[in-house]
Amino acid sequence: MTRKIADCRKYPSETNCSLAISGEEDEVVRAASEHAVSVHGHEDSPELRSRIRTMLEDERVSV
Ligand SMILES: [Zn+2]
Repeated sequence: MTRKIADCRKYPSETNCSLAISGEEDEVVRAASEHAVSVHGHEDSPELRSRIRTMLEDERVSV
């Protein structure tokens, strides 16, 4: 299974946030949008979620 990762360092923000969230795509989108709302003051919306979804990357698994 390939997990997706949302890396906050790649998001434009003023807080220098270093959080990274990984998991299945839907989990990451949900957690990252909640994080964006609570920490970065974004407004939760379908648009925010789809923006997060486009920024997800495959987690590189070292074997
Ligand atoms: Zn953040």
